[in-house]
Amino acid sequence: CKCYALSSIDDNYPNKIRGLDNSENSRSQEEILIGDRLIKKIKKLLEEYTPCSEGGDVNCECHSDVIFNDLKPYQSKGVTNQMLRISAKYGTRYKILNHRLYRDIECMFPARCSGIEHFLLKLVDELPDMDLVVNTRDWPQVPTGLGDRMGPIFSFSKTSSYLDIMYPAWTFWAGGPAISLYPTGIGRWDLLRDSLTKSALKTSWTEKLPIGFFRGSRTSDERDALILLSRLRPDLVDAQYTKNQAWKSPKDTLNAEPAKEVQFEDHCRYKYLFNFRGVAASFRLKHLFLCNSLVFHVGDDWNEFFYFALKPWVHYVPIKSYPSAEEIESIITFFQDNDDLAREISEHGKQFILDHLRMQDIECYWKKLLLEYQKLIKFNVVSEEELVEVKSKYREEL
Ligand code: UDP
Repeated sequence: CKCYALSSIDDNYPNKIRGLDNSENSRSQEEILIGDRLIKKIKKLLEEYTPCSEGGDVNCECHSDVIFNDLKPYQSKGVTNQMLRISAKYGTRYKILNHRLYRDIECMFPARCSGIEHFLLKLVDELPDMDLVVNTRDWPQVPTGLGDRMGPIFSFSKTSSYLDIMYPAWTFWAGGPAISLYPTGIGRWDLLRDSLTKSALKTSWTEKLPIGFFRGSRTSDERDALILLSRLRPDLVDAQYTKNQAWKSPKDTLNAEPAKEVQFEDHCRYKYLFNFRGVAASFRLKHLFLCNSLVFHVGDDWNEFFYFALKPWVHYVPIKSYPSAEEIESIITFFQDNDDLAREISEHGKQFILDHLRMQDIECYWKKLLLEYQKLIKFNVVSEEELVEVKSKYREEL
């Protein structure tokens, strides 16, 4: 038997599901048993899943725990002016005072700041006075070990080794990576939601190509195994590296010429879509769900605020970090054999993003987060000359 290990995609994941040889006869008794166990496990999780909120989720309840957890390290001591002075070295200072928004003159990534300011300006009339420091880099800034010596910093993504407070990334409005297909940067989640939902309708589930798909640059070598598998088994996976700004030679695309970029809408023609971390969490994930394809999410270290409400095996297929080509092959073939389960998980995933990652949820999260954060501030927020006012176009027009 050509058996290939599929070791611990999560703790209870079967060790082997199926070998390279696709014929039923070549499957060992053990493999069949393990596959059956996984089927049972998924069915049970799907049956037991209870939605995170009732009705229309007007209060972004599904994500509320994240705010509580991220602010916990500051609950007892609060946030002092001194703490924020230290934080200011690692990000951009913002101030809300008398329902106006102020910022450091310089922002390291202006497009990212404008993606953030879109939300802050929308909310400023409803927010009390506060000072905050927002990190616009990809990488979080407050390692757990340094927690006591650092003040709070807002970052879009982190692992459990950081104490940064997660905020909804700029890319929900503007400032996402600029690739040839999105030259002004990936943003406008409201518009992409609509166009992706429409694209998804163009290819029915049965018309989708039953293979894995990935397009992206080599921001993490965790993606290599899938790319290499695609080169060996193009009948099972189409995964290729594209260029990013750092590209210098084919070495940066794992010794191949860079592939043409593929827009999100065209991902919907494939049944199994892969997501990996990049430098931090990848903005790709939320888009993949809207295709109504099955999302394979590799690794669980890097998170954005909405990841925690997505449940493995219910909304997506979890795959352990750095899977081997054999492990990837096994899990794809498992879902090729269990198409009903694949379809059910894909529908749950899409519905979750449609219901709980609306623009109103992003605004609601920002508002709840800042209202809770403001309660921790232990000093009087005062005007500072070195900050400049950020005005919304809408206000200027008035
Ligand atoms: N992207 C895309 N089509 C491509 C390549 C990339 O839509 O052909 C998107 C991708 O989904 C992600 C962004 O561009 O949202 C940057 O992708 P990349 O893989 O370069 O970096 P990541 O942010 O995933 O680490």
